[in-house]
Amino acid sequence: MMSSNKIKGDKTSHSALQGDVTWANDLKRTRSYGPTMTKDNWSTSGQSTKSVHAGSIEDEVTGAVGTPIYQTSTFILGQEQYQSIEEGHARDRFIYTRYGNPSQWAVQNKLATLENAESAIVFSSGMAAITASVLALLDKGAHVVASNELYGGSYHLFNHELPTFGMSVSYVDPTDIDAIEAQIKSNTQILYFEALTNPLLKLVDIEQLAQLANKHHLRLVIDATFVTPIACRPLDLGADLVVHSCSKYLNGHSDLIAGCVMGSRKLVDLVWPRLLTYGASIDPHAAFLLERGLKTLNIRMKAHAENALALAKYLEQHDKISRVIYPGLQSFPHYELATRMLDNTAGMITFDIKGGDNAAIDLLELLQIPKQATSLGGVESLISLPFNTSQAGFTAKQREAMGIMPGCVRLSVGIEDSDDLIADFEQALARISL
Ligand SMILES: *Cc1c(COP(=O)(O)O)cnc(C)c1O
Repeated sequence: MMSSNKIKGDKTSHSALQGDVTWANDLKRTRSYGPTMTKDNWSTSGQSTKSVHAGSIEDEVTGAVGTPIYQTSTFILGQEQYQSIEEGHARDRFIYTRYGNPSQWAVQNKLATLENAESAIVFSSGMAAITASVLALLDKGAHVVASNELYGGSYHLFNHELPTFGMSVSYVDPTDIDAIEAQIKSNTQILYFEALTNPLLKLVDIEQLAQLANKHHLRLVIDATFVTPIACRPLDLGADLVVHSCSKYLNGHSDLIAGCVMGSRKLVDLVWPRLLTYGASIDPHAAFLLERGLKTLNIRMKAHAENALALAKYLEQHDKISRVIYPGLQSFPHYELATRMLDNTAGMITFDIKGGDNAAIDLLELLQIPKQATSLGGVESLISLPFNTSQAGFTAKQREAMGIMPGCVRLSVGIEDSDDLIADFEQALARISL
């Protein structure tokens, strides 16, 4: 029988986290896995079973089915804790919540199992995970080759923070492997790409990037926020680290901010000291919410992809829409790669409405179901315009040069009924005069 993490002990003793905790004791023998103890138990299960069960802690003290919220800042020190501090593997014991907490570990184990990762760390935000991971892999004076279509926060890290450490970045078309190789220099240390870009949904060939990274002895970091481990597992394709904003699909309910990094124990161990220094630890309550959200990840992703495909097909044939980009459409520019690399095409659609940005503004006002908001990946449909949100810092001319045309709309399709979503677009588009 597959066993979950179990906390054994009685109410009168704090030994629950010391002497007779099987899952913590196991760490001694399987130190290479660190806080991803449940990997072996669930690694052969399907993604839904992993979503529900992996990592969850069954508290034998109370019989609670779900992971309790370990709302504590600190833990009683025993022989094992002192020893772990002395031997430099404090990451494997509970000492202080900035270092680690059972609520956080439960999420880490679930995520690592879903991603087929040896190790994971959860952070207080996606940006914290990205900053800690990138800086952990770079030396003073290092060079990075990164996508020229990056999430704004990551672009700021590369463009404003890295130069202060004497580091530099070259930006390149994420789908042009020759152009990427041409940017590699003797001091290049990492390749940094997003699996699916925002807002143009360019799909990068992770396997090809991994081969390139290997050839030049570089590390490949993939931001897989837009695809999730349900669609694609970059580590299996050869990436060294995968980072996610858990604020999006992974949590799925638009009610918290969190992030994570996953990879080999060795590399993730390099990131962990940055977590401590930057103080980017997740709060136990947020960890609890994230674990709860993750339990429905697989079933939610199926609903997102089904709805998005139906809506994308509807929009594609509408005469007021000039372009629809969605990885599930045969017209998708990287359709062949999408069918090869993605098990799920997720819920992000980018489309252009005829009539430009004013028509797009009208559309957002007329829609009843999608809420006007940035972010993505929640159960509710969210809609926004790159020109006045994510790409507002560029001129109209610059946006067009990037491929973001007037009337460009970004839609995160939720898990509402697709008939309702299509009917809503039908009524809104009918009221727009071009
Ligand atoms: C939202 C997002 C981030 C940043 O995550 P936060 O949780 O908001 O810090 C990073 N990358 C991508 C692709 C995102 O969508």
